[in-house]
Amino acid sequence: MRAAVLYAPKDLRIEPVAPSPLGANEVEVRIEAGGICGSDLHYYYDGGFGTVRLREPMILGHEIAGTVSRVGAEVANVAVGTRVAVNPSRPCGACRYCAEGKQQHCLNMLFYGSAMRFPHVQGGFRDVLVCDAAQAVPVAARMSAAQAAFAEPLAVCLHAVNRAGALLGKRVLVTGAGPIGALTIIAARRAGALEIVATDVAEAPLAAARKVGADATVNVSEPSALARYEADKGSFDVMFEASGNARALAGGLAVVRPQGIIVQIGIAGAEMSLPINVAVAKEIELRGTFRFHEEFALAVALIGGGLVDVMPLLTATVPLAEANDAFALAADRSKAMKVQLAFT
Ligand code: ZN
Repeated sequence: MRAAVLYAPKDLRIEPVAPSPLGANEVEVRIEAGGICGSDLHYYYDGGFGTVRLREPMILGHEIAGTVSRVGAEVANVAVGTRVAVNPSRPCGACRYCAEGKQQHCLNMLFYGSAMRFPHVQGGFRDVLVCDAAQAVPVAARMSAAQAAFAEPLAVCLHAVNRAGALLGKRVLVTGAGPIGALTIIAARRAGALEIVATDVAEAPLAAARKVGADATVNVSEPSALARYEADKGSFDVMFEASGNARALAGGLAVVRPQGIIVQIGIAGAEMSLPINVAVAKEIELRGTFRFHEEFALAVALIGGGLVDVMPLLTATVPLAEANDAFALAADRSKAMKVQLAFT
């Protein structure tokens, strides 16, 4: 079986890797679709982000879906032939945060395609993957592998929306309209947002944002573009910062209303500074959001139930053998939202 193994920045090799043995509580999944995430792009172009650096060859990928091809002796929740979305998150289930229901903070987390730990946790861009049965979440029969591979990034955005609290009737700003910003728009709309405004510095992602439900979009390459939202101490109850850009965060403080909430989703390569006096004077709450837990199953249910449509965000499907081309396309914000790899 083949895998996409990153050795160093821009040194991604499609090469054979040895199959893993199948444990009693594990399943083997033939991977069919794998979405390229912003973090995969950071590894591919920069060798990592912040303090997380590639220190040994690593199989990339954590937005994956396929069909179960074998099941271990004690597996009861899925059968051979079932299409599944693979949850790339493997919390230990035993540490204090797992016990508190905050599995995204698990002290022993194994998250696919992540260099946060050493040895790195190998990822899911491979023809065949052996995972815990609990990670293989069956999807609705009408769901394609491409749709199922959107479960993971949608779960990230559902968790961000949960971090914001109730959105019913709220005015929402989403800064950064890449795949995560766009999926946050979808999640916020589903959660009852009254008005959603999206910003970006490029026109193509703004067009995608409108396609998935943004009420208005603003190109912030013009510095005063958001000025009209600054009146009366701000217009938005909640802001989701999905760009990782310090200027977007600082600009948001001017347009979020007193006692509003800013949820920071995007991560910058370096530190971000902000005019903290504005946050203090307007009593603005800044909240982080990290991965997801129960939202993965919710993402599968929302997509499978036809309650959200993620497919407008799929730009292209590229064979695994052409993975380097796929990464180049995914990095081109004038052309691409989500790019997925196709396997077998
Ligand atoms: Zn744990």
